[in-house]
Amino acid sequence: MKLGFIGLGVMGAPMAAHLVAAGHDVSGFDVNAAARGKLEAAGGRAAGDAGDAVAGADVVITMLPDHPQVEAVVLGAGGVLDVAGRGTLLIDMSTIRPETSIAVAEAARDKDIRVLDAPVSGGQAGAEQATLSIMVGGSEADFAAAKPVLEVLGKTIVHVGPHGSGQVVKAANQLVVGGIYGLVAEAIVLLEASGVDAATGLDVLAGGLAGSRILELKRKSMVDRQFGPGFRIDLHHKDMGIALAAARQADVALPLTGLVAQLVAAGRAMGYGSLDHSALLKVAEQLSGR
Ligand code: NAD
Repeated sequence: MKLGFIGLGVMGAPMAAHLVAAGHDVSGFDVNAAARGKLEAAGGRAAGDAGDAVAGADVVITMLPDHPQVEAVVLGAGGVLDVAGRGTLLIDMSTIRPETSIAVAEAARDKDIRVLDAPVSGGQAGAEQATLSIMVGGSEADFAAAKPVLEVLGKTIVHVGPHGSGQVVKAANQLVVGGIYGLVAEAIVLLEASGVDAATGLDVLAGGLAGSRILELKRKSMVDRQFGPGFRIDLHHKDMGIALAAARQADVALPLTGLVAQLVAAGRAMGYGSLDHSALLKVAEQLSGR
């Protein structure tokens, strides 16, 4: 299959490399030359611009930071909707606000381009090991068409509803992830301030009811204060904004989500925006003067 892949960052680069390894003909574009170089090193073709990556593609995947980049690449002049042929399947795997996913799908319908929102969970490790969880919004038929491509990238691939639903599920994912990081951070502060070895304490937590993927995968790096690269606090700040906007749209109250959003905002304000979100530990420490 001929694939166009736009956005070759922390997540996009390993995902595009898996698609090359699976035998697809992948043309990729990123505004960052080093990112394009990673695709070439993996055996793909570095395109000169987004339109060049999309021309002639059966499937286009976007893995961009936020909605302004998706709007520019997909809706902008010379972008995906201008260049892609009728019947092309656009799978936007970026985490963005649901209303943009819906607007993109509506704009694409006029051009006979099929669209899915398919954000992911599993982090950098999930992208590198092709074990992502992928939550897909759009039609059943387009989901069925996308599945063979998505199966190269992930393990849990679920159609969750119409356009925008994938993004709502991702927003729910992000508020849970942010909350767990915030509480693991507070557990470390409490353990260390009480003179208990945090690594040993978290080993016990990981085996009990408090156990989680975050404790399983990240407790060592958190206790060792290794905070990057991975999922930047800046991106989690964006995602908490999406979650709170979705809550407002749905007319529900999510008080803990609001608190987690403020912790993430504090991390950004303290200058940790480029660190992995496990650096919420630094926020928890500073709140206790440690
Ligand atoms: P990233 O910043 O590492 O990668 C994004 C890439 O897009 C960058 O290489 C950037 O140069 C490129 N880009 C920006 N504007 C562009 C444009 N106009 N045209 C072409 N390329 C452009 O971010 P990431 O961590 O790979 O995250 C990508 C998306 O996936 C985000 O929406 C994020 O929220 C989501 N996500 C990230 C993780 C993670 O652990 N990093 C996990 C799940 C979901």
